[in-house]
Amino acid sequence: MRDRLNKIKTQALEAIESSSCEEDLEDIRVKVLGRKGELTMVLKAIGGLPPEERPEVGQLANRLKQEIEQSIKTRRNALKDLHKRPRVEGLDLTLPGRRRQLGRLHPITQVMGEICYIFERMGFTVVHGPEIELDFYNFEALNIPPDHPARDMQDTFYIDDKVLLRTHTSPIQIRAMERQEPPLRIIAPGKVYRCDSDISHTPMFHQVEGLMVDRDISFAGLKGVLTSFIQQIFDPDTPVRFRPSFFPFTEPSAEVDIQCVMCKGEGCRVCSHTGWLEVLGAGMVHPEVFRHVGYDTEEFTGFAFGLGIERIAMLKFGIDDIRLFYDNDLYFLQQF
Ligand SMILES: [Zn+2]
Repeated sequence: MRDRLNKIKTQALEAIESSSCEEDLEDIRVKVLGRKGELTMVLKAIGGLPPEERPEVGQLANRLKQEIEQSIKTRRNALKDLHKRPRVEGLDLTLPGRRRQLGRLHPITQVMGEICYIFERMGFTVVHGPEIELDFYNFEALNIPPDHPARDMQDTFYIDDKVLLRTHTSPIQIRAMERQEPPLRIIAPGKVYRCDSDISHTPMFHQVEGLMVDRDISFAGLKGVLTSFIQQIFDPDTPVRFRPSFFPFTEPSAEVDIQCVMCKGEGCRVCSHTGWLEVLGAGMVHPEVFRHVGYDTEEFTGFAFGLGIERIAMLKFGIDDIRLFYDNDLYFLQQF
């Protein structure tokens, strides 16, 4: 009889512990404590036992009955809590998780990478330089002495008399030529700073500067390299034209236009109804610049060019406000 009670106990307590709802618990209660339940049958059978065994078995059976009733009660409360809590906190544990958003390259970074890649395939090497620059590298060595009117073309952020935030990537050319003898073929991308802000200017923007120096480098070479670049970054049949211009560090100098990508030369607001868009400044390196870095101007010639990356990105993607690049607007950035 005692073994039977132990067996009922073990089975009942295990079943209660693993029950997951009110219905399970009720089934267990009926099975053990109901009118024909296992324990009920034991209690009923006590009368048939020898008189000296009745008190002990009766006591054990009654204690087990109480224990099982208490376990059922405890488990019932625990289950109620378990089902109640999520609803109280407004959680639905069955919903799927939220997917983490993937990052991607900023359109300016994408275009910068593409430009560098095109020139690397033409044998140019990517070099970098400091954004906080000396007046000497930013102006003087580029043939822009302190009283030169060209300094007015660039509204400079000065840190002190001799130190400034570079206004173009051209100082990287000077640093590269100081380090290395010709032949030289470099491309220098990076941030530049000017005190200027409107629909087509931001105080910080990106440029790529290129420089090629060797014996017998001619303007024809410059034209070939830049035409090839434009046809790779835009359409292969993009019309290109070179216009005479002025920069202190090149002579002769040219500005390079492409046919307006918006109106295909018909004339529109973007191209001020001219049908052309300026994308590059370029020219043959001024002998005065070579003299500053100790290159022999009789032996070597070279060409240099510079372009604004924002400008190229705006034309490529059809964006009409440069500030969109820096608003950190995800709806804008996710398009690229
Ligand atoms: Zn146009």
